[in-house]
Amino acid sequence: MAYSGSVSRELKADRIARMHAEYEELKKLFPNPRPALNYATPLELLVATVLSAQTTDVRVNSVTKALFPAYPTARDYADAAVEDIEDIIHPLGFYRAKAKHLKGMGVALCENFGGEVPQTMEELVTLPGVGRKTANVVLGNAFGVPGFPVDTHVIRVTGRLRWHNEWRSPTPDPVRIERQVTANFPPAEWTDLSHRLIFFGRNICHARRPQCWACPLAPSCPSAPAFLKKYGMDAETVFASIRNGAVLTAADMKSDDGTTAAAATAADGNSKPSDAATVVETAGSDGNDESSAKDTADNQ
Ligand code: SF4
Repeated sequence: MAYSGSVSRELKADRIARMHAEYEELKKLFPNPRPALNYATPLELLVATVLSAQTTDVRVNSVTKALFPAYPTARDYADAAVEDIEDIIHPLGFYRAKAKHLKGMGVALCENFGGEVPQTMEELVTLPGVGRKTANVVLGNAFGVPGFPVDTHVIRVTGRLRWHNEWRSPTPDPVRIERQVTANFPPAEWTDLSHRLIFFGRNICHARRPQCWACPLAPSCPSAPAFLKKYGMDAETVFASIRNGAVLTAADMKSDDGTTAAAATAADGNSKPSDAATVVETAGSDGNDESSAKDTADNQ
């Protein structure tokens, strides 16, 4: 479904059809999405997600290797000295605040939930350091409850694709985005949809220099013509080349936190190198992508 050329003229039914067609492309790019954070239990996922604000998943995984064995239960966090938690997580940004959150979270889990991670949005957001986004991550990945975490990548990508009305706003509302996007997809898809948008934002639709020239969504993306013009490229020529297969694949992509998209998504092996791979390496080295410092909205 090609973009009609004007958001205001695009019929709702056409937009929804375009969203679904674009999501099919994301599925091809990221066939088996899964969280980049390492965890084995709901508590570990909750802790890792709280720690992931303002840092990379790679860094979080490096500290949780020591943190998880030292604090296996909510009671262990509740009884811990904050300084001891700080000692382990100090490589992360805002480690003092995060250590306080972890202790407070342990106390709240023990006092209010029998030491277990609760399984509802209403309960999860009562925990220190846990907002709607973190709760959605835990619900979707630890409990199989449909959730659509909206982080900085989801906000940016869905805005460029005009999947919601918030793209016009200088301060888009994550809750409105969540509602508008999820209204058009079955609940069973929400968690994977969010993962795919995040991987896509990290690896192709970068904050400052999206790789529109090799993006499989470009022919239908409302933002592609303006970006391509800025890059001095002819949109129709680029779209024709993309339609002929000159697109990025999961195997080509590498995010700047060192996680390859292929590793993060267990690509199906059908990915093939393309000329675009060279382009990614070049453009990816400009250091402008924001994925190295994830959104503070994690805990909002
Ligand atoms: S065409 Fe460009 S702006 Fe549109 S989704 Fe692809 S990378 Fe993002």
